Amino acid sequence: MNKSSIKRQSTADDRSPFEQSIHRLAARAGDVPIGWRPVYHKALVALRAIDCPARAHIQLTSPRMADLNLDVGVTKPDSCIDGILRKLRLRTACTCELCGATGTLRSMDRTLQVMCAECAAPRLLRFWISSFVQQMAGALPSGSRLVYTYDQVPLQLRPLIPATAWSASGESCKGALAVSLSLIEMAAFQGRFEAVGNSLDLLVAAKDSQ
Ligand SMILES: [Zn+2]
Repeated sequence: MNKSSIKRQSTADDRSPFEQSIHRLAARAGDVPIGWRPVYHKALVALRAIDCPARAHIQLTSPRMADLNLDVGVTKPDSCIDGILRKLRLRTACTCELCGATGTLRSMDRTLQVMCAECAAPRLLRFWISSFVQQMAGALPSGSRLVYTYDQVPLQLRPLIPATAWSASGESCKGALAVSLSLIEMAAFQGRFEAVGNSLDLLVAAKDSQ
């Protein structure tokens, strides 16, 4: 073993458990959603700044990507460390995990994600289109008499159906004429729904690759 390798080994061994755990957290940065990384790095800088002999044996655990925020555990209570980690949780809870803009918790299919409006809109519309087309395709074989009222169609999909396609159903709702569309009539728009869905996929993929 030459002198430089002995020196490097010695330097690594000299690090306290606290320093080593911060180093491990830094090495895991690639696992953190890209929009949360600036907040994560800021927390690591703050943790390094409070490194001292009194904290030498405290250790931080791997980042945990919860649905709601980013969390890091600690082996021993310490008010300064707790404050930094609390700030990390609070800030990531309102930061879009995709782009870093201000975001809020959103429900997507069976998952929850913190996203800004710009990132959420195409994904939510894609989700509603897929769900609706799937439901419609499932109902088609036996539901030829099924009728959708305007209110039963997801809000996000209504702009995709021309106003002229709706038929007055004769019932009024809060003074407005109720309209409806049969399943068969709705199925005629399936191609349109799918085309919009495919465009949304391309839009999301293009944004993700930036
Ligand atoms: Zn975003």
